Amino acid sequence: MLKPVPCRGCGKTVYFVKDKRGKTQILDTVAPVWRIKIGFDSAKGVPIYEAERASGDTYVTHFATCPKASFFSASKKEVPSNA
Ligand SMILES: [Zn+2]
Repeated sequence: MLKPVPCRGCGKTVYFVKDKRGKTQILDTVAPVWRIKIGFDSAKGVPIYEAERASGDTYVTHFATCPKASFFSASKKEVPSNA
């Protein structure tokens, strides 16, 4: 069972889940994922765009929403030489 844990950067609740390559992905526990459904109004001859909530178990990487995301990406890089 997935266990939500607090992000070390911002404290928001996230899931740590490994992908099929074994890399840990940090995902928001809520899924604010939407898709744009494109239809066509044949009477008016114009496309119709409709926002709809993505169905299924779809999550957003926490790096997209974490205010401290740059902290994590910086910590993975080698220390820059400022000499
Ligand atoms: Zn965070």
